[in-house]
Amino acid sequence: MNNIEKNLASVRNNITHTAIDCERDPTKITLLAVSKTKPVADIVAAYQSGQRDFGENYLQEAEHKIIALSDKQIIWHYIGPIQSNKTRKISQLFDWVHSVDRLKIARRLNETHPENKAPLNILLQVNIDNEPSKSGILADEILPLAQQIESLHRLKLRGLMAIPAIHKDAEQQRKPFVQMREAFTQLQQQYPDCDTLSMGMSGDMQAAIAEGSTLVRIGTAIFGARTPTGSKSH
Ligand SMILES: *Cc1c(COP(=O)(O)O)cnc(C)c1O
Repeated sequence: MNNIEKNLASVRNNITHTAIDCERDPTKITLLAVSKTKPVADIVAAYQSGQRDFGENYLQEAEHKIIALSDKQIIWHYIGPIQSNKTRKISQLFDWVHSVDRLKIARRLNETHPENKAPLNILLQVNIDNEPSKSGILADEILPLAQQIESLHRLKLRGLMAIPAIHKDAEQQRKPFVQMREAFTQLQQQYPDCDTLSMGMSGDMQAAIAEGSTLVRIGTAIFGARTPTGSKSH
């Protein structure tokens, strides 16, 4: 087995065991392989061991990969910050967008998503730690934004996404995930079709699963460390 294949097996195993430990059904947790900065060959290696969902942060880089891999049955997730002049390409290339954080972006994605494709799945990004430097809406803005998005028929609201700060202390680490679970439960009461809570990365996956994550976004644990941006090789 190559490294990626091994790493994927180990991440899947970790998800299964963590889920069982907290009495959750492991099949209800989607593994999103975050392939940003990694070459097409790495995506192919993961694909060949059964991985189908891939996440990208940078549009230009993603566009090249999506075109190169257009013969494969890949579900592409856009998880990076969105500039409003990039919405057309994002809505044309991707199946999911995790980082919707304002109505203007939602409207543009809705206007530009091709009619002949299934509705674009979207998640609202929540700034759960309330950090001024981070993107995302505040928890009390979730329901109002969800309501405004309801009339946008090329979009399908599927749930919430968060990137909480990393904490060394396990108790501290759980807190934002608990808050996200509560916000998600509240959203589901009004929008029962919402089925996706996107949280958990290589460093905090277990805490996220314990608090109800239905989709973990894993880069490093599958593809290895990334070279710092600025020294990318493409
Ligand atoms: C890069 C990234 C990930 C993956 O992070 P790892 O720590 O490498 O697993 C997940 N989510 C988002 C939004 C990212 O930008």
